[in-house]
Amino acid sequence: MKKIVMKFGGTSVATGENIRRVAKIVADSTKKDQRVVVVVSALAGVTNQLVEEAEQAKKQDEKQIQEFTGKLVEKHVATAVEAIKNKTVQKETEQAIKKAVSELEKVLTGICYVGEITPKSRDYVLSFGERLSAPIVCGALRDIKLQAQCFTGKDAGIVTDENFGAASPLMNVTTHQVKGRLEPLLEKNVVPVVTGYIAATQDGVVTTLGRGGSDYTATILSVALSADEVWIWTDVDGIMTTDPKIVQSAKMLPQLSYGEAVEMAIFGAKAMHPSALEPVIEAQIPVRIRNVFNPENPGTLIANGEETKSTEVVKAVAMIRDVAMINIKGAAMVGAPGSYSKVFDVLGKNNINVMMVSTAVSEANISLIIRRSLLGRTLSTLEIALLGRGLVSEITSEDDVCVIAAMGANMKGTLGVASRIFAAMAQKGINIRMIAQGSSELNVSFVVKEKDGEAAVRAIHEEFKLDRI
Ligand code: ADP
Ligand code: ASP
Ligand code: MG
Repeated sequence: MKKIVMKFGGTSVATGENIRRVAKIVADSTKKDQRVVVVVSALAGVTNQLVEEAEQAKKQDEKQIQEFTGKLVEKHVATAVEAIKNKTVQKETEQAIKKAVSELEKVLTGICYVGEITPKSRDYVLSFGERLSAPIVCGALRDIKLQAQCFTGKDAGIVTDENFGAASPLMNVTTHQVKGRLEPLLEKNVVPVVTGYIAATQDGVVTTLGRGGSDYTATILSVALSADEVWIWTDVDGIMTTDPKIVQSAKMLPQLSYGEAVEMAIFGAKAMHPSALEPVIEAQIPVRIRNVFNPENPGTLIANGEETKSTEVVKAVAMIRDVAMINIKGAAMVGAPGSYSKVFDVLGKNNINVMMVSTAVSEANISLIIRRSLLGRTLSTLEIALLGRGLVSEITSEDDVCVIAAMGANMKGTLGVASRIFAAMAQKGINIRMIAQGSSELNVSFVVKEKDGEAAVRAIHEEFKLDRI
């Protein structure tokens, strides 16, 4: 009997109708004697609204907070009513929604009184998206006569470190707890429905795994339960040659190796959280990306040794938005041992993840790419640590840039890939601000102005004829 962890993304659970579709997918699987664990995201857009509200709450009054929570109840109750026909289950779900939102209202009111939001309280606020969607999905499963039980990530047993906003799982404790709590249910054919994205520290304080983290929850659970496969259900057929929202003729990649998929996840093939594959690579659990709106399609299979055969070296191209570039200049850095390490040491100690680095041969300049949301904090951290100490003379930044990454396993040792890419850029008159080649040689990435990003993606898609893959 196969054990499958299925994660349903925001669009998959965006409406009552979609949730019924999800319930049917789960039911069809259980009919085939598959044991299913369900992981759900927040309804589409809800996490973004919570991010916004968490920021606003410190400046708001109680009335504005009640307005927000009132709308949240309305949206989720309406979705539940559409997703669940049985009146008793409907009522129970409605009560669960109201109870959760009343807790959220208290948290937001607290933030409003204190006038401050900490990473810890922010995670607490953001956890409510999934805490509201999971009971609806659970209700929809019960509505079609499946046995189901709802869990938060914490109740399911997922324990993380205290890196609020992007916490990492502590796999040993997690495995022990998840096994103990979910396995007995699976044996009784009960479907556990687990909130994606959220977990807790060892002390029980709520954490989140980083945006898009429901994918990560699914792979964590799959390893803890020694599942046979993970299925990431989303709104496109699988991992494609590029974002189909940018290039309509983008093609699905039927297979990918773990290495290729990691590269694509890190480089913003948004279809997956960048750390989501870490747990399954070691455990060698295959992952499939599938479309809830086209369940007949087998989707993209990510597994060891799998790769899409292609004569072209570039298999996919991604555009990563929401990044910023920082330039650190200083003639004194030339030939000074340890000058780079000072920069990275400061960033590391402040938990600032560097996505891309490039340096000039003259060594007088280091360019870094970071998440745009971290720009203010990164600049002030670097300025305090580096300026006026003789090494660095100037720190500047650009926040209107994006990263373009061309990926493919065959790039290793192939000459001329970079020149074809950059010739394509030149032809379209796109100026390149920074270049880096991943040491894995699975990608070439570069930075352009964000307004040129989509044109850059289209130019590479065309140059390497990715629509014919
Ligand atoms: P979910 O809510 O299911 O987690 P996401 O929005 O996180 O979905 O990811 C799915 C979206 O990722 C797709 O709708 C698509 O627009 C976008 N996307 C970007 N790059 C790719 C790619 N290479 N392949 C597939 N989808 C991609
Ligand atoms: N709801 C969370 C987010 O929007 C997690 C997820 O959807 O995977 O980031
Ligand atoms: Mg996602």
